[in-house]
Amino acid sequence: MIPLLDLTAQYQSIKNEVDGAVQEVLCSGKFILGPNVLAFEQETAGYLGVRYAVGVASGTDALIIALRSVGVEPGDEVIVPAYSFFATAGAVLTVGAKPVFVDIDPQTYLISEGVIESKINSRTKAILPVHLYGQSADMDPILSLAEKYDLKVIEDNAQAFGAEYANRKTGGLGSVGCLSFFPTKNLGAYGDGGMVVTNDSGVAEQARMLRTHGWKKKYHPEMLGYNSRLDELQAAILRVKLRHVDGWNQRRREIAAQFTARLKEAGVRTPVEVQGRKHVYHLYIIRVAKRDQAQAILREAGIASEIYYPLPLHLALPCKELGYHVGDLPIAELASQETLALPLYPEMTAGQIDTIIRTVSGLEL
Ligand SMILES: *Cc1c(COP(=O)(O)O)cnc(C)c1O
Repeated sequence: MIPLLDLTAQYQSIKNEVDGAVQEVLCSGKFILGPNVLAFEQETAGYLGVRYAVGVASGTDALIIALRSVGVEPGDEVIVPAYSFFATAGAVLTVGAKPVFVDIDPQTYLISEGVIESKINSRTKAILPVHLYGQSADMDPILSLAEKYDLKVIEDNAQAFGAEYANRKTGGLGSVGCLSFFPTKNLGAYGDGGMVVTNDSGVAEQARMLRTHGWKKKYHPEMLGYNSRLDELQAAILRVKLRHVDGWNQRRREIAAQFTARLKEAGVRTPVEVQGRKHVYHLYIIRVAKRDQAQAILREAGIASEIYYPLPLHLALPCKELGYHVGDLPIAELASQETLALPLYPEMTAGQIDTIIRTVSGLEL
């Protein structure tokens, strides 16, 4: 079976470096907010071109802490694309705010920036674009709207570590950026992890307090916070992997380019890469009308495939009280019925790439 992703192959390629880093932490006896978390925060900030980085326990927590750090409060509205991983909307609900969904672009699956303005009112506090599948949302119009209406921009960069928009790394473009180091992400830990990144010292200070019980001075909480830290062991592993991530992303782009060139010829609806943006192909998504049938044929040929995501956010059960119905956001709804992820990871062999291309080219779409 060609898996969607092979984390063991990647570990084998960096085993010595990772094992050494883990050993060092184990011998140091420092497990919470130790030197590796600090160093990884600085290295990631440098990589992304931002001033501050705050390691937290997961990408979901990064979203929750980022929302609160920029001042989103219960009752506020946050504009969110209708098509993403559920945590994007879940985080907004968790802080007591209301996600206001907008539809997506049918080519890129990214937030359709043209309809955002019509959703802005006096309760709107922030816009939350998602750099879905590894490609940046169109940030310039979003940043202009934010300036015009005095809104915060929170980037969900969980799927796009290393992606670029106009030669600048995503995550550092808005008021605050959220990273996930879930094992399958382009920069993945061996467990959960996340990070809040920003150029605003006030936002960074809030995020640091929120991740440690709401205090600056130990045992003197100033607000209700969390216990949400990036683990020292994970930080040590991530420091090793950060040194490789550009090479891995480059390899993802090369494989995606091969897929697209040959699948396009066969009439497959392949991903659309927008000029001026560097796509890092967290996922390689094709579009198929007869998706069940396509998945069955792929399975038969020994090729894994997966649906990201079978339900748009506005139709998810926890959003029920918001009152959305089928048909409200038709492009997101259609995407949820037709998108299909093919295997794509840096360690794929030429033979695997070829098998995928030949099989997918033969699908009746
Ligand atoms: C993975 C992901 C998250 C959540 O990250 P976790 O580390 O799993 O909590 C949030 N948003 C998007 C778009 C994601 O893909």
